[in-house]
Amino acid sequence: MAIRPHTNHGEVIDEALNVAEERSRTYRRTLDFRSVYPSEYALAALAHFREPMPETPSHPVDVVRMLDEYGSPSTVATTGGRYFGFVIGGVLPAVLAASRLVSTWDQNAALRVMSPIVAEIEDVVLQWVREILGVPAGCEGGIVTCATTANFAALAAARQALLARIGWNVADDGMFGAPPIEVVVGEEVHASILKALNLVGFGRNRVTRVPVDGQGRMRADKFPKLKKNSLVCIQAGNVNTGAFDPAEEICRWAHESDAWVHADGAFGLWAAASPKYRHLVSGFELADSWATDAHKWPNVNYDCGIVLVREAEALRAAMTISAAYLQPGLEREPAIQTPDTSRRARAVELWAALKSLGKQGLAELIERTCKHAGRFAAGLQEAGYEILNDVVINQVLVSFGQAEVTQEVMRRVQKEGTCWCGGTVWQGKTAMRISVSSWATTEEDVERSLAAILRIARQVSG
Ligand SMILES: *Cc1c(COP(=O)(O)O)cnc(C)c1O
Repeated sequence: MAIRPHTNHGEVIDEALNVAEERSRTYRRTLDFRSVYPSEYALAALAHFREPMPETPSHPVDVVRMLDEYGSPSTVATTGGRYFGFVIGGVLPAVLAASRLVSTWDQNAALRVMSPIVAEIEDVVLQWVREILGVPAGCEGGIVTCATTANFAALAAARQALLARIGWNVADDGMFGAPPIEVVVGEEVHASILKALNLVGFGRNRVTRVPVDGQGRMRADKFPKLKKNSLVCIQAGNVNTGAFDPAEEICRWAHESDAWVHADGAFGLWAAASPKYRHLVSGFELADSWATDAHKWPNVNYDCGIVLVREAEALRAAMTISAAYLQPGLEREPAIQTPDTSRRARAVELWAALKSLGKQGLAELIERTCKHAGRFAAGLQEAGYEILNDVVINQVLVSFGQAEVTQEVMRRVQKEGTCWCGGTVWQGKTAMRISVSSWATTEEDVERSLAAILRIARQVSG
């Protein structure tokens, strides 16, 4: 079958969409009954994909069937209620449904003229996000793939502004011979900041590391003296403990010397959506730039990150593809705020999430997942296991004893399949990390998972 626009191509598309739709529904309905991580049996079927590029075309329906038959069982059930690895959100119903429409539209979100609807929604949703996160209204933003890219874009804007202050235009003249920038991070900085520092030419190692406390918070009293071209990276929500840096103190200290403060709040910034947890992000509104993810706590589909920058011109100067776009008075163009130019319309799914939740629904999602995390911590502690962090939001670190014991419990939990939790080393101590980030997690999911973890832990410690 040749893939050409012919008289019945509409029928072929309808048939393929029906098959995809039907199989998607079955996938979703059966998610609760399968192992969260794929079985050995499922993984073995991946061999079917290892074929040379086919010489002849395949019918779209057959393509979808093959993908579902051999592919779906080897997905990790992150959209179900019992995945607690890394910091991974599920996908909200409105988001999943909207993403079907977005795929059908197949808009290029780079420029307003390429898609008026997407540019409009991006304007609206960025305003909503600024409001939810408590970021000042005049700040400019962009929608990117992830928090790593958002960190990168923000640091590129910071580099532009900080070097401009001392008479260097980095967009035009590059980093060769540029005056040095002093970069300050915490001992528990997220690896994505180090990657972003590498990408902007500052280097992973050319940083001053500020000591942290037992929760990973930067010690404001241990800060070095800063200059007007210093760059300070702070964190809202440590990936292990969920802890927040003392933003207000740090921002006030940094701004005395006119330094730039960047806040990495990949998931933690969303605590601002809840009246109960909002106090944790107090002071972060004083930063100069922010990076966050919508595919983590807000349960938008992959991928969706957000960058926000107080000095709109710095972000645009760093990201523009052509000076022509920088003329004042023109409407905001999505592509000149981000590293990529052509891209999918991920703002629409973010909009669908926030539209469907409303402020109340988002607050409820944040509070519910934190409550579930609290229940995990309490249940594990009651059984005699050590919780290594203050459970302030949705992250729990548990030790089952010696490093080897914790690793063995983790390995067996992952294999047993009721739930999935990953591991980490927290300030020298091996831990299993439980992150409750999905809207889909129910109390029953938590109890079932907790029971499985405790049963396995007892078996391991004999
Ligand atoms: C997850 C995370 C990141 C990176 O997010 P990606 O979306 O994977 O790029 C950065 N910082 C923190 C604190 C995170 O938790």
